[in-house]
Amino acid sequence: MLPISRRQFLTGSVLAATAASLSHRAWGAEVPRKEAPKTELPKDVKADELQNISKALESVQARVKPAQPRKVLVMSLTKGNRHGHIPLSAQAFEMAGRKTGAFEAVLTEDVSYFAPDKLKGFDAVIFNSNTGEIFEGRDDLKAALVDFVKGGKGMVGVHAVADCCAKWKEFGDMMGGYFKSHPKQDGKILMKMAVKLDEPKHPLLEAFKGQDFEITDEIFQFREPYARAKLRVLLSVDGAKMTLDPASTKQTDGDYPVSWIRTCEKGRVFYCALGHQRSTFWNPTVLQYYLDGIQFAIGDLKLGAADTAPGAK
Ligand SMILES: [Zn+2]
Repeated sequence: MLPISRRQFLTGSVLAATAASLSHRAWGAEVPRKEAPKTELPKDVKADELQNISKALESVQARVKPAQPRKVLVMSLTKGNRHGHIPLSAQAFEMAGRKTGAFEAVLTEDVSYFAPDKLKGFDAVIFNSNTGEIFEGRDDLKAALVDFVKGGKGMVGVHAVADCCAKWKEFGDMMGGYFKSHPKQDGKILMKMAVKLDEPKHPLLEAFKGQDFEITDEIFQFREPYARAKLRVLLSVDGAKMTLDPASTKQTDGDYPVSWIRTCEKGRVFYCALGHQRSTFWNPTVLQYYLDGIQFAIGDLKLGAADTAPGAK
């Protein structure tokens, strides 16, 4: 764990340099410097945004103490649409892991990290709104990811990753679903969403304290392999509180999941659609939820079969 004093976040002029040096420190020891990943950080993250994340993290804590030092790969490569939140959420995950001691993060856009000998050093991979065929032509890396997850590690999906690797069916099978489209409200896909806790007492939903909530984001409509029978939906859109443009809704059953978990042989998967806006990643409640989901994926926040079994409640 690399504690960081709050003072380091209070002087705007040193923020960028501080973030850069911390990032290097975070991935310094085990990854040779020459292989340091290309990163857009921190140049695409403003000083005040770092401060917002830092302030939000004041109330965020690791739900459980890691059983051992944990390492998480944050993968931000995109081959399709690229979300503006990507550098910011990558930074937020790195800061959350460091501040809480839950994990050390390596931020990258380099698929070579998925080579088996490199991947084995990680406990989980966070797919940070990736889009397109990021593993195209690399069957070796695809196989390594499948072995990684099914062999007992973790996979976390953020927002647009539902639109990633659509040509690689096993990726969707592991993640739990592919993006189909966004419904609209008053002609817009970004809207104030009413989100309900599917199971208010589920241990992974502690961050929300039993309260449904509203947040400005996009609603995702998913296509196969998504099915409630295959995974455990924890958050979903509360359709009773929203009116969507009928022509834009392709979901005949009114089911708009927002977040789910599933097990994948020995591994664990956590997906959350929240995150289109950068501000989502300095929302303390959402940050806590993401951290809890990451700790579940890592294997530190343990859930029994009763809490991970697929199916609607
Ligand atoms: Zn989006």
